[in-house]
Amino acid sequence: MGFAVVRYLSDEPSGSAAMSIVLHLSTVLVRNGHATDLANKAAWAALDAWNHIKCPYCSGRGVMNIEQVQCPACHGTGERDKAGLPEIVREGISALMEAERWMEGQLSAKLKR
Ligand SMILES: [Zn+2]
Repeated sequence: MGFAVVRYLSDEPSGSAAMSIVLHLSTVLVRNGHATDLANKAAWAALDAWNHIKCPYCSGRGVMNIEQVQCPACHGTGERDKAGLPEIVREGISALMEAERWMEGQLSAKLKR
């Protein structure tokens, strides 16, 4: 999963990298006990939501300006509200975020060497 995310983020936004992420993700969701076709749809939805997860008002900073006024749209979280998304899609998003954290861990481990 982590490697698919690395490819996706380092590539030009291309169909094949997105495809491989969705494949990995739906595999994860199926393993979590979801039906295959539902997992496929949710994987696409999760990837799409993850691409746009940053709050559009504060670009993910959680504050509006130099005075650090809390962003009214996301209440300082820097993320869009995921509460409206179906459970399976949120599950997919957390799998993607986990993979991203794993990737960041790999990168900083490399830098320390
Ligand atoms: Zn915001």
